[in-house]
Amino acid sequence: MTYIRIKIKVKGLVQGVGFRPFVFNLARSLDLKGFVKNTSAGVVIEIEGKHAGVFLKRLRSEKPELSDVESIDVESIVKENPPRYGRDEFRIVESEDNGSITPVSPDISVCKDCLSELLDPPDRRYLYPFINCTNCGPRYSITRAIPYDRPNTTMLRFRMCHDCSREYHNPEDRRFHAQANSCPLCGPRLDFQSLTPVFKEDEGENPIYSAIKVLKAGGIVALKGLGGFHIACDAENADAVSLLRERKQRINKPFAIMAPDIDTVRGFCYVRDDEAQLMLSRRRPIVLLNKRPDCRLPEEVAPKNRCLGFMLPYTPLHHLLFFYPGEKGTPNFRCLVMTSGNLSEEPIIHENKAAMEGLAGIADAFLLHNRDIFMRVDDSVIRSNVFIRRSRGYVPEAIAIKENGPEVLGVGADLKNTFTLTRDFYAIPSQHIGDMGNFETLKFFEETLENLKKLYRINPVAIAYDMHPGYYSTRWAESQPLEGMRVQHHHAHVASVMAEAGFRNEVIGVVLDGSGYGTDGNIWGSEFLIADLKGFKRLCHFNYMALPGGEMAIREPWRIALGWLQEATGGDALRYIERVGFLNRYGEERIKNVLRLVELPEFTPYSSGAGRLFDAVAAITGIADTNTYEAEAATALESCAAEGITEDYPVDIKFADPMVVDFSFTLLRILEDMTSGTDRSIISARFHNTIITTIIRVVNKLHILTGIRDVVISGGVFQNLYIAERVFERLQVGGFRVHCNRRMPPNDANISLGQAYILRERLRQ
Ligand code: ZN
Ligand code: ZN
Ligand code: FE
Repeated sequence: MTYIRIKIKVKGLVQGVGFRPFVFNLARSLDLKGFVKNTSAGVVIEIEGKHAGVFLKRLRSEKPELSDVESIDVESIVKENPPRYGRDEFRIVESEDNGSITPVSPDISVCKDCLSELLDPPDRRYLYPFINCTNCGPRYSITRAIPYDRPNTTMLRFRMCHDCSREYHNPEDRRFHAQANSCPLCGPRLDFQSLTPVFKEDEGENPIYSAIKVLKAGGIVALKGLGGFHIACDAENADAVSLLRERKQRINKPFAIMAPDIDTVRGFCYVRDDEAQLMLSRRRPIVLLNKRPDCRLPEEVAPKNRCLGFMLPYTPLHHLLFFYPGEKGTPNFRCLVMTSGNLSEEPIIHENKAAMEGLAGIADAFLLHNRDIFMRVDDSVIRSNVFIRRSRGYVPEAIAIKENGPEVLGVGADLKNTFTLTRDFYAIPSQHIGDMGNFETLKFFEETLENLKKLYRINPVAIAYDMHPGYYSTRWAESQPLEGMRVQHHHAHVASVMAEAGFRNEVIGVVLDGSGYGTDGNIWGSEFLIADLKGFKRLCHFNYMALPGGEMAIREPWRIALGWLQEATGGDALRYIERVGFLNRYGEERIKNVLRLVELPEFTPYSSGAGRLFDAVAAITGIADTNTYEAEAATALESCAAEGITEDYPVDIKFADPMVVDFSFTLLRILEDMTSGTDRSIISARFHNTIITTIIRVVNKLHILTGIRDVVISGGVFQNLYIAERVFERLQVGGFRVHCNRRMPPNDANISLGQAYILRERLRQ
C-alpha cells in the first residue's frame, strides 16, 4: 500500500482564529497522520495517508469563519512505504518561531455560542464577563509577541483550572487552544470601586450590578474594556450627558453610543442593510447613522449633527451591562454613552491605576478588571463604508500592496495620526494614535511602534515624514538615526490611495483637507495635482484665504468669514456685517480688530485649505461660529444641507500656472440669498454643489491637458458624504476611473501609508 505525504504551508490570517483545531479535526476525520503547527510564517501542515488528496481539496474549500487565507502552497508530495508516521495520531505540535511574517488577528467580538452560555444559568460561565473561545475574544490588545500562544499574552498570569485546561486540550472542544480561555474559578475578575458614598455597592453584590445602579441613577462610570477604558452614562438622561460634557470639558464633540441590539438602534436612526451587517460583524465598529426626525435622544449627545455614532456590545461585559441579571428581552438601558476614557487630546487610558487617577474628576465609579491590556486600541468609526477611524477590530491587519519592497516607516502627520510599517508585500498601518502634540500621545506612538516592529519583525531602513517643520512627528523622525525623506502632505494623501489600489501610473489627484505644508512654505489644502510615486505637479488650487490671528481663526471661523468678506467686497466688509448678523454676535469692536489684523501679515497667515472655506460659509450663514473640535463647523454645515437641490453658485477659475479657483462670486451670491431670506439648508446645499461642480470642471480641464483618466480623491473633506458621493458618481459618469481610500480613512490617518509607499518606491529604484 502506498502512503502519500503532503507538506502544506498556509499563509494569511490563520493564527488565533481556530485554524489548527480545524486542520486537526479534518485530518482525524480522514484518518490521516502527521502534524500541524503555527510558525511565524503561517501554519505548516504535514499529512500522510490515503485521503491526503481529499484533505487538500477540503482545506481549499472549507475554512474557519474568522480566518482569511491568502495562500495555500503545497511544498512537497512524497509517495512512500512504509509511512513516516506509522501509528502516530495526528498532532498539534508546539509553535515554532522562524522569523518571517504573519498577521496577528484583531480583537473579535463575543460569538453567539459564548453569548448563549453567558446568559444560561446552569452554565459554569453564567454571567462570567471574560467568556471567550477559539472564535472570539481579545487578540491584538493582549498579545505581547508572536506566535499567538498563551505565554505571549497578558493571560500568562492566569493558570487554567482543571475544567478549562481540559477544554483547552480537547480537539473536539470549542475552546481547544483558545489562548484566552478562562472561567470564574481561574480567570480574570471584575472589581467595582466607587469614589462617592452616594454610589456604594452592597456587601457581596455583583460588580456589574453595582455599575448598573450608578448608571441608572444618572451617574458616570469608567469601565475597563477591550482596548482601553470607556466612560459611560445613560444616553437617554440629558442631565447625565451634560454632566459628562462638563466634567470631560468636551463642549460639542459627539459621543459614541452603545445600544443592546440593532432594533433599538433603528428606533433612533435609519439603518441600511449594509450598515446593520457591519454593526453586527465581529469587528463591531461605531457606525455613524442618520438620525430619524423623531429621534428622542437628548441633543447633548451629538449637538448640531445629523448623525449619531452607534455601536453594538462587543464584549461579554457590555452584554451584561444591558442584560444583567440575564433576562433576555428587557435590557437595562436602551442606550449608553460609551466615550473613550481619556483626558481631552490624550490617548485612551488602559491601566487601572492611571484610570483611577486620571479619570477621578470625571467618573463617579469604576468597573475594573485584572486582565491587562497590552496594546491600546480605540473603537473604529465608519460612516457609509468610509473609515473615519481604523482601530479595534481592524488593526493589526496588514494591507497587501503590489510589489515586494524594503522595510520602511512612515510617521504620518499631526492630527488623528497613525504610522505605517512596510515589509515584503505588506503595509501595516497602526491603530489610531491621536493628536501628536502631547507627551502621552508620543509615548503611545513609540510603544505601539515598538510592538508592531516586534510582532511583524520589521526593522525599518528609512523613515518618511511630513514637510511641516513644526509637526511633532517630523521632529521625532529627524531625531532618529535613519535615512529620512520628507514627503509633501497632499502627495502623501494621493499615494495612500495608490498604495491601497495598487497602481503606480500618473493620476489626477484631488485632495481637499484642512491644512498641509506646501513646498512653497504656504499652507495648502485644496490641491489638484498630477502625481505618481516619484513626484507631483500642482496644477490648481483654491484661492488663499486670510486666517486673521492664525490658530485663533481656525477655532473661530467667523474671523475667516470676515477676512473673506473683506476681500470679496473689495474692502467693503463693514457694509455687510449687519446683514450676516456679525454685528450682533461679535460687536463692532472685535470686528474692527479682526479687520485690522487682516492688514498685518505677521498675524495673518494665508491658507488654501478647503476646510477653511467650509468654516467661513458655516459662519456667514450662522450655522456654526466655532470649532471646539476639528471640522465641527463643516460637519454642521453638511448636516443642514437640504436634499434635492441642484443649483450652485458661480466661481471664477483663473487660468494661470497653477490655476486658481476664486470663490468671491460665491460669497456675493450667498449674501444675496441671505438677504432674500433663503433657507440656510438651501444655501448650504448650493454651496456644496458649487464645490462639486468646481471639482468636476477642474478635473475635466486637467484631463484635457494631460489625457489622464485615473482620478484619486482623498483628504478629510471627503468624509463629507454629500460631496464624496456626488463627486464619485459624476466623475464616473464622465468616464473617469475614480479611486479613493477604502481601507484607510480619507483624513490625515492615511498620510503615514502614503509616505511609506513613496519612500519604499524610491528605495526600490
Ligand atoms: Zn466564543
Ligand atoms: Zn477555569
Ligand atoms: Fe491632510
